[in-house]
Amino acid sequence: MVAQIISGNEVAKSIRAEIKNEVVQLKKVGIEPGLVVIIVGEDPASQVYVRKKGEACDELGFCSETVRLPASTTEEELLRLVDKYNKDKKFDGILVQLPLPKHISEEKVLMRIDPGKDVDGFHPVNVGKMVVGSADCYLPCTPHGVQELLIRSGNDPAGKHVVVLGRSNIVGKPVACILVQKAKGADATVTICHSRTKNLAEITRQADILIAAIGSPNFVKADMVRDGVVVIDVGVNRINDPTAKGGTRLVGDVDFEAVSKKAKAITPVPGGVGPMTITMLMKNTLHAAKIHHNYKG
Ligand code: NAP
Repeated sequence: MVAQIISGNEVAKSIRAEIKNEVVQLKKVGIEPGLVVIIVGEDPASQVYVRKKGEACDELGFCSETVRLPASTTEEELLRLVDKYNKDKKFDGILVQLPLPKHISEEKVLMRIDPGKDVDGFHPVNVGKMVVGSADCYLPCTPHGVQELLIRSGNDPAGKHVVVLGRSNIVGKPVACILVQKAKGADATVTICHSRTKNLAEITRQADILIAAIGSPNFVKADMVRDGVVVIDVGVNRINDPTAKGGTRLVGDVDFEAVSKKAKAITPVPGGVGPMTITMLMKNTLHAAKIHHNYKG
């Protein structure tokens, strides 16, 4: 079987084109979506993510600001800054890049963001709305991106058995929650697996759609899936490879080489889920701008 390669780059490109068109319309009535990104410390991966978010804002015509704070910033200082941006009408979305330095409580900071500006979808108010299936909420970006990839690649999860590997609050649990909703683009039967799951391969072999989000390179092997499975690989793992430029390369949680021979469709790493995450952040910020300006167009 030749698997359909689900290109996150392509899907993200078409969603970005839609967003860009909407921004043009919004600007005609004086609305410019705005996103502020706050980063504390020097974590190199976070620096890259934050730069990419700024670039996405520029590409789509959003107003954006990046606030870079030293690792020595106190919790109180960061909370005061969040308060400031909560009141600043120029910004529809506030994103505090995680992880934060150990001396700052991520929970406290995320709780302080106005839920109406929580475009990362991590505030408990938005998490609660997601659980009850409210249309009026910001869905977390990576899980929402997974759903969009499934829908836009013609792999509607309705009625399918979706097996999710991983139960983190940022990927595993929310993606399961989104896909089990009684809603268009959802309606799946969902099983969540984690490190304490017994007979994992027996469960993964039952999946019509397998979503891997565990952070373990090439963990899912061909004998863990059935023929015709649809695989969404969320994992991003850097492994040593002397043949690669720089001696390392990125791989997912799925052994792409072997599993793609059995799959109906599969996402690559890189170029699969990754490009969707920032794109869904932009979509949430656009949505926030429309709500804040009561735009019905
Ligand atoms: P995480 O917080 O470390 O959670 C990993 C989950 O996987 C946990 O629930 C853990 O189980 C489970 N797990 C670990 N090893 C397992 C095993 N051998 N068998 C079954 N379950 C296992 O990770 P995360 O933040 O969800 O991220 C997961 C992966 O996705 C990482 O590679 C990350 O880099 C990637 N990611 C990518 C994007 C993107 O935009 N593409 C965004 C976010 C994350 P326990 O709960 O029992 O410990």
